[in-house]
Amino acid sequence: MTSSGTRSRSAWVEVDLDQLARNWRLLRREVPAGVSLMFVAKDNAYGLGAVEASRVALMHHADSLAVFTLGEAQQLRDAGINAPILLLGERLEEEVPQVLELDLEPCVGSVELAEAFARAGSVRGRPVPVHLKVNTGMNRFGLPWRMAAAWSQRLAGLAGLEFRGALSHFAQSDELDKGFARTQSGRFEAVLQGLAAVGIRPRWIHHCNSGGVLDLPDAHFNRVRVGLLAQGVYPSEVCRRIDGIAPVLSLRARVTAIQPLEAGDTVGYGMRWRAEGPCRIGVLSIGYGDGYPRLRNQGHVLLHGRRVPLVGGVTMDALMVDLSGVPEARIGDEAVLIGRQGAECLTVQELATLRGTVTYDVLAGLRERLPRVYRGSPSG
Ligand SMILES: *Cc1c(COP(=O)(O)O)cnc(C)c1O
Repeated sequence: MTSSGTRSRSAWVEVDLDQLARNWRLLRREVPAGVSLMFVAKDNAYGLGAVEASRVALMHHADSLAVFTLGEAQQLRDAGINAPILLLGERLEEEVPQVLELDLEPCVGSVELAEAFARAGSVRGRPVPVHLKVNTGMNRFGLPWRMAAAWSQRLAGLAGLEFRGALSHFAQSDELDKGFARTQSGRFEAVLQGLAAVGIRPRWIHHCNSGGVLDLPDAHFNRVRVGLLAQGVYPSEVCRRIDGIAPVLSLRARVTAIQPLEAGDTVGYGMRWRAEGPCRIGVLSIGYGDGYPRLRNQGHVLLHGRRVPLVGGVTMDALMVDLSGVPEARIGDEAVLIGRQGAECLTVQELATLRGTVTYDVLAGLRERLPRVYRGSPSG
């Protein structure tokens, strides 16, 4: 068991490296052999720890990584990771030298930026490997599909670039209705044909995120970009399930204080919960300052394998639970806030639903204030 640099705390994120490795092996079996697996490690790998999670991915069939910021890329390079790294999103021209310095493969979503990278490639005497980002309907980043004929011609004339890839991104891949996803794929394929007609044949073609990996096998092309699914969490409640894929992240905290209450006593700011009779309140030293959702009189933790309700509002540093159902609970006992304990399980989805958000948001919200504890071995 290893821990991140942070000093120990009574609340922490635990990552099961054995299960993470297992998930990658299952993903490899799921996706056809000719399709490359790229691990999307942005935002600290959605809470797992970008360096640790990337190492496991690269040991188990992923051949490349993706991040969003130069700082995220720097962190991976500083850790000695020299796998190809795709830089998602769009750069400002002033970032071009740093992209080259870190040996990254940037997405390019405008002719102007392509020209800036081409100039830099010509100056250094070695082409810059770029991925053409095509906007097929997400309308966030990328070269607009409607104007493909015009920009393809201009890109074809540029020296100093290597077209390492072409990609697009689904606006809706994890819901039952795949209509718009198919429209986007059709647009992407038409753009690829247009690129080929002017002599641009990118090495890697990729359109799928986790939802697409699961439910849009026709759109796998020769690479998929996997973030959430690698950690065993599904992008939605309706997408297909893969047997054996299981969550690797759990959120844990130990009971650090217990308050005996009498009938009529209240708990927390605003006195929003009132005891109906004598009871004990357990305090966990984890709050919204750690990224735990700011719930009030809602939600549960697991203690002694049972569901125990949160009472009052979650505070910045602590949350309170009603120990009536667990008379044996003592200071020091380990509670589970996300994950499994005995036969009970609290899913990320459950917390996301309570908070009115998506699983991504709950996971990415877990702050660095929480130490990461790694169990098992990166080799699985
Ligand atoms: C975040 C992101 C992904 C990964 O999505 P998951 O659903 O987590 O697999 C893929 N592609 C792009 C462009 C992204 O921004």
